[in-house]
Amino acid sequence: MELSQRIKGALYGVAVGDALGGTTEFMSRQEIAKRHGYLRTIIGGGVWNLEAGEVTDDTMMTLCVAEGILEHPEDPVQPIGERFMVWYRSDPKDIGNIIRQVFQRYEGNWFEAALAAHHDLGRSAGNGSLMRCLPAALAYADPAQLENVSRLQSRMTHYDERCDQACICYNRIAWRLLRGEELRAAIAAEIAGTDYADVLTLAGEPDCEPSGFVADTFRWVLYLLLHGQSFADVVQRAANLGGDSDTIGAIAGGLAGAYYGYEGIPGEYAGAILIRGRLDAAVAGICKLRLGSGGTV
Ligand SMILES: [Mg+2]
Repeated sequence: MELSQRIKGALYGVAVGDALGGTTEFMSRQEIAKRHGYLRTIIGGGVWNLEAGEVTDDTMMTLCVAEGILEHPEDPVQPIGERFMVWYRSDPKDIGNIIRQVFQRYEGNWFEAALAAHHDLGRSAGNGSLMRCLPAALAYADPAQLENVSRLQSRMTHYDERCDQACICYNRIAWRLLRGEELRAAIAAEIAGTDYADVLTLAGEPDCEPSGFVADTFRWVLYLLLHGQSFADVVQRAANLGGDSDTIGAIAGGLAGAYYGYEGIPGEYAGAILIRGRLDAAVAGICKLRLGSGGTV
């Protein structure tokens, strides 16, 4: 499969997982079963009263990271931050609590704002930096650069090592998938020796809620990727979990899209996404950056 198919699949995968899961965010599995049976269609609605195909913070902040990297690949923090602020000022429907607290404290230095919010809240290990980090794996062929930008973009809002580590682990899995490695082997190679290693051999589902805590989120993402049979199966499983279903769907959908490729995403899913133009522009920019920089993967 061509690299461009995997890059397009990854960004669309985030958007589809987000748009499908947005319908069920904050619901319980029982509530979802009662109202939707098993949700398979992008219908919008839910707590944010979404239009069908409307995406939420997960995709919008992923685009901010992608576009910031494209503006200044060698030093993307400032351009990413400028896009974060444009998005924040657009008064988005959904914005995570930690990220909102950081925006309110931002006075020109993202890392200071993140530290201040962390001290005031007493915690910052949410999944809000993991949900948007994938462009760092798509844009950089060099693993050192991938890891550096994964960490930097996380630290802009989340002052917690567990967030950095999840972003780096996730993006290193993506790096392997872009090279054509098998999904299970790529995950196994990167979670060996980490707190997530046991997900490979779990007898049943993870024994944590599908919550916004980064460690819970990432355990569910890995579980869904290991057990899903196709792109559609992965994002449907996420959407029908409830809890932080849009973010878990976006994160799992990103890697599933990188693995199965854009062709592996059902046409009715990709075609439903309302911001396809902005996604396509980001895909084109990343492909140009990646392939233009000597970059066979
Ligand atoms: Mg969201």
